[in-house]
Amino acid sequence: MSGKRVAIVGAGVNGVSIATACASLGHEVQLFDEGTPFDQTSSASSRMLHGGIRYIEQGHIRLVREALIERDGWLRFAPDATRVERFYFPVYLGAKRSKWLLFAGTLIYQWLAGRFSVGPSQLHTSSDLAQIFPNLVSAGLRGGASYFDVVMEYEPLIQLLIDEAKREGVTIVENTHIQRLYTDGRIDTRDRTIEFDRVINAAGPWAAKLLETSGIDSDFTIDHVRGSHLIVKASFSHALVLQAPGERRIIFVIPLDSEHALLGTTEHKHDLADPIVCTDAESKYLLEILNQHLSEPLSASHIVSSFAGVRPIVLRREATIGDMSSASRDSEIEVSDRLINVFGGKWTSARHLGEKVAALI
Ligand SMILES: Cc1cc2nc3c(=O)[nH]c(=O)nc-3n(C[C@H](O)[C@H](O)[C@H](O)COP(=O)(O)OP(=O)(O)OC[C@H]3O[C@@H](n4cnc5c(N)ncnc54)[C@H](O)[C@@H]3O)c2cc1C
Repeated sequence: MSGKRVAIVGAGVNGVSIATACASLGHEVQLFDEGTPFDQTSSASSRMLHGGIRYIEQGHIRLVREALIERDGWLRFAPDATRVERFYFPVYLGAKRSKWLLFAGTLIYQWLAGRFSVGPSQLHTSSDLAQIFPNLVSAGLRGGASYFDVVMEYEPLIQLLIDEAKREGVTIVENTHIQRLYTDGRIDTRDRTIEFDRVINAAGPWAAKLLETSGIDSDFTIDHVRGSHLIVKASFSHALVLQAPGERRIIFVIPLDSEHALLGTTEHKHDLADPIVCTDAESKYLLEILNQHLSEPLSASHIVSSFAGVRPIVLRREATIGDMSSASRDSEIEVSDRLINVFGGKWTSARHLGEKVAALI
């Protein structure tokens, strides 16, 4: 097989993973981004490499199982840039889900991981939880359940991915907006047209818009859901999963170091023309949910920073998004002659997606 000249548009985790996989098969790869690698959605995730425990409740069993296997791949690829963390669900009187239901969910999660499990799920009494989280409100606490999952050490992990891409010979072309794609292998930058044997559209949330601008039909479209996070100055010994009172949503509290934690996320339909930022209302919503669970609440002064990203939710044309929390986060690959479009995907599935796309070339 002779190496092909491949252009990849978008240097988020999907584009970088596809680029590395293509280059490792001997192709000559140029990876274009209008900014720098990892400066959009991929920098705004909840930093979990996970099966997605909440998708069990929505019945996406196959998706969870696949992602749990992919989670194992990350542990092996980046043992020093990932860590196994125990996540605790505290359950209060009147919560939408009982501790028994949550425990059953965590057991299914562990069972779906099979030999790729990273630790046993457990049922907890309220006094167990009070001991582990002394700052947790004790009134109404009914106990809870816990399970293990994997969290990324973000900066070292992206460095590892960029280094790997360069080592495989990928050329990264930054600050280059691709204005137009063609199905015959050409792409237009602002000032010239370049020809390749294959072009891969991995523009994440912007993938469908880029096709539209290029006048290329697709069976898929993307809906956009903004998710915001806060980094707060607070110390947690382990991660927490909090049920938003009165809602079915959950939010995660993940310790980043001994003094800081990541809190998120929200879900709001997003128009790509609007700035991708955490609004004051989202910030208030996240802090309020956390504070409803803490005996010594945090104030706005504990917020160190906030960030937001847009989830690309892939839909077949004519479907509508409906309930945002229950839309599947699976990905789709579409081939149009020499152009390959990638829609959706998660951090967790990016390396596997990269291999699948590279195999198509
Ligand atoms: C709030 C939130 C939390 C999440 N949490 C998790 C999690 O915990 N675990 C998990 O597995 N997944 C998570 N995800 C999903 C995951 O982060 C995304 O699906 C993934 O990062 C998408 O990567 P991407 O490479 O497709 O997109 P991006 O990272 O957005 O990359 C696309 C790139 O394309 C570039 N681009 C766009 N248009 C052009 C153009 N015309 N020319 C040149 N460049 C262009 C952009 O600059 C960008 O860098 C989360 C997502 C969100 C929003």
